Amino acid sequence: MQHRARKRFGQNFLHDPGIIARIVGAISPQPDDCMVEIGPGQGAITLRLLEALRHLHAVELDRDLIGPLTAAAGDHGALTLHQADALAFDFRSLAPSPQALRVVGNLPYNISTPILFHLLDQLGAIRDMHFMLQKEVVARMAAPPGSRTFGRLSVMVQVACKVQNLFDIGPGAFRPAPKVDSAFVRLTPLAAPPAIHHREGFEQLVAAAFSQRRKTLRNSLKKIATEEQIRAADIDLTIRPERLSPLDFVRLANHLFLQGQGD
Ligand code: SAH
Repeated sequence: MQHRARKRFGQNFLHDPGIIARIVGAISPQPDDCMVEIGPGQGAITLRLLEALRHLHAVELDRDLIGPLTAAAGDHGALTLHQADALAFDFRSLAPSPQALRVVGNLPYNISTPILFHLLDQLGAIRDMHFMLQKEVVARMAAPPGSRTFGRLSVMVQVACKVQNLFDIGPGAFRPAPKVDSAFVRLTPLAAPPAIHHREGFEQLVAAAFSQRRKTLRNSLKKIATEEQIRAADIDLTIRPERLSPLDFVRLANHLFLQGQGD
């Protein structure tokens, strides 16, 4: 397939058959799964998935890839291609029932975090997600409290999903080779996620706490809460944000922003 990789679409195509097999093995597609691939590109993962599934959805932004991909998929299985921007795509519309949709993709790295947040907003429809991402992004998603990389992304993902950093992949598995290392991650929505009473307030709190991560909570949360309020939630004002667990953030937010407020 002749296609010049486009940088603005974050195109780095997988070509290493061993790595592709490993990715598909980790996803473990079953014939009746309801699955959607984000950014199928030239079909490196797509064609292997199609062979295992009765049907597959894929969301691809680059118009020039639609024709070749449709042709390539022809002999492999039933593919429904949506030429669309994954950032604006309604993934819920693909799920026949709650928690049914499996989402996979070698994501364009330049927009991987916004795509993730977009999917976290639609988590009720999702069974699990498997992504190829920049290694540092996976490390931040999986980081435990107290570690250097624990931050806003860790909290936002971990209050909603179990995160499994499955394996690393070097630049040589892609064409063109990216400048960064990659990792493959599995996200499974928590069966009983903590109840967040006020979503916006929670997001504001987490963003503020990590906006200056070397500062104590007393300083970074000044604009959001009084010292009394923070103490009343049983949170130590003298620590830095990475010392709080995701559940601590939920507890503090639920304390500060009462149910129904601002909804
Ligand atoms: N899955 C393929 C391609 C990965 S490269 C492989 O592993 O080889 C990333 C893919 O995402 C490209 O095909 C790119 O065109 C597509 N893409 C980029 N931005 C997108 C967006 N906003 N929505 C959907 N697809 C996008």
